[in-house]
Amino acid sequence: MRVVIVGGGIAGVSTAAALRAGGFDGDLTLVDAGEFPYDRPPLSKDYLTGAKDLEQIALRPPQWYDKQSIRLLNRVRVTALRSGGVELQDGTLLPADRVVLATGGGAARPPIPGCERAHVLRTAEDADRLRAALRPGARVLVVGGGLIGAEVASNAVDLGCEVVLTDPVATPLAAAVGVELAAWLHRQHTTRGISTVQAGVESLDGAETALAGVRRVFDAVVLGVGMVPETALAEAAGLKVDRGIVVDGGQVTSNPAILAVGDSARSRDGHWEAAQHDGARAAATILGAPPPMPTAPWFWTDRHGHHVEAVGHMAAAGRTVVRGSFDDPAFSVFGLCDGLVVAAAAVDDSNAVRAARRMIDRRIPVDPARLSDPSVSLRSLLRG
Ligand SMILES: Cc1cc2nc3c(=O)[nH]c(=O)nc-3n(C[C@H](O)[C@H](O)[C@H](O)COP(=O)(O)OP(=O)(O)OC[C@H]3O[C@@H](n4cnc5c(N)ncnc54)[C@H](O)[C@@H]3O)c2cc1C
Repeated sequence: MRVVIVGGGIAGVSTAAALRAGGFDGDLTLVDAGEFPYDRPPLSKDYLTGAKDLEQIALRPPQWYDKQSIRLLNRVRVTALRSGGVELQDGTLLPADRVVLATGGGAARPPIPGCERAHVLRTAEDADRLRAALRPGARVLVVGGGLIGAEVASNAVDLGCEVVLTDPVATPLAAAVGVELAAWLHRQHTTRGISTVQAGVESLDGAETALAGVRRVFDAVVLGVGMVPETALAEAAGLKVDRGIVVDGGQVTSNPAILAVGDSARSRDGHWEAAQHDGARAAATILGAPPPMPTAPWFWTDRHGHHVEAVGHMAAAGRTVVRGSFDDPAFSVFGLCDGLVVAAAAVDDSNAVRAARRMIDRRIPVDPARLSDPSVSLRSLLRG
């Protein structure tokens, strides 16, 4: 069997790795438009600050592809899906029995006049441009207080920029980490010298930006307002697309020979680990193997020197329980529903999130009073 994977982000590379790990011995080609497959989360973290270079954020060392007998086509774009294969930018037809679309997404640009002038952050080139603009003393407006916006604001202020962070929502991320923790996280910005504004940007026209009815001058404007799934190939091929390529539980699209994974597919939560899990599921489908066990969705983010993790669906929680105190160096918030943990979010406490994931996946009932008491070990709570 010949498999072609389109896109060398975490979803595409994970699909390739899971295929080989699962014993796939057919032809395996990974086509990526970029320089080489690299990771995206560092683009708003260590790569943006200059602490790491592009080679250091490669998803796999260059020799890994040869060792795994994966034909890697870098700087090559797939331009169309054809019956029996994919068409490359030079017109070559690459034959395939199964195609896996792992085309990721692009940064969203809201319909604000002049917003094409603003920085976005999706590729290493975007990060290079933004880094050059984050000079000490530069006046920087970050639009969007979600994961990427908050990380950019945090690093920009550390680099000596004068930062304004704007979001129409009072507590960004409340749905993901709960209102209390979202409010704590948002307050960190002001503590670190970032000025926060609760408003949408009205226009970015000319030299001035209209924000909350006031016209202000910024040296750089950065948009962190979400992701748009890259679905052009799928749409042109007539696949079902609805805010992402529509897939079933095995990552199969409306064409049984084509699968889709990662940010381009609709089935997922839009985070790094979910893209990796999609790859494992797609590989299992191609191999005819049982799908990996489902697990609660997880993400992390780093800002203002804190490592934040969240698992599960906080929006599904009927109540929250704080373990420790928001003044502690590390603490966590658990979301419960009907006596079961359905979500957790933690600051500098990965153990709490790991334990919460097991509680969620195994549906372990917990006593909220014991959960809230940091002197009761999480290990004992996991015993039920
Ligand atoms: C700046 C940033 C920071 C992030 N931080 C975090 C974080 O802290 N925690 C977290 O959980 N998640 C984070 N994420 C989200 C996470 O990185 C994404 O969910 C993940 O990268 C999605 O992987 P993917 O493989 O689906 O897509 P991508 O990583 O976008 O990869 C898609 C690849 O497909 C290629 N491609 C597209 N079209 C074609 C074509 N026609 N031909 C050939 N190649 C093509 C692209 O060049 C690209 O290399 C972050 C994302 C960004 C952008």
